[in-house]
Amino acid sequence: MKKDNEWNGECFYCDSCGKAFRSPLYDVTKEYEYTIFYDTPRIPEVEIMGAEVIAKYCSITCRQKHRNQILKREKIHATFPDIGPTETCSRCHGPVLMTSFHLAFVEMDTEQNWGQPIFGANVISSQVISVVCTKCEPIPFKIARAIDWDS
Ligand SMILES: [Zn+2]
Ligand SMILES: [Zn+2]
Repeated sequence: MKKDNEWNGECFYCDSCGKAFRSPLYDVTKEYEYTIFYDTPRIPEVEIMGAEVIAKYCSITCRQKHRNQILKREKIHATFPDIGPTETCSRCHGPVLMTSFHLAFVEMDTEQNWGQPIFGANVISSQVISVVCTKCEPIPFKIARAIDWDS
């Protein structure tokens, strides 16, 4: 029998193998972001809005095994883009202006602090796997409205 309630349901279920687990979490996150470049040796910053976890895995292996299904569902390819200023759209191969808001798919590894909601999750590593141009995926109204266009 599967012990589903080992953690009283306070756990994740792997989208690849179905295993219940708590930490670390290997996920695929869909987010809207843009890169800010500076003239000086300061490292570029990435502004993120509307991040949404679309898949959760118990291991890197499970994520790699399952990745193609996510890519297929979202009609994209894993291109592992750089930070810009211009990268290639994973759907239409057109340009993606990284300095403007666009959709990105990110693989994130996080340490989950269950029972300590204040500390939430520590990001161990994150890697952008795909970016999509705004012709393929227009910025949703609720995100566009929240952007501070004046800055
Ligand atoms: Zn798994
Ligand atoms: Zn495109």
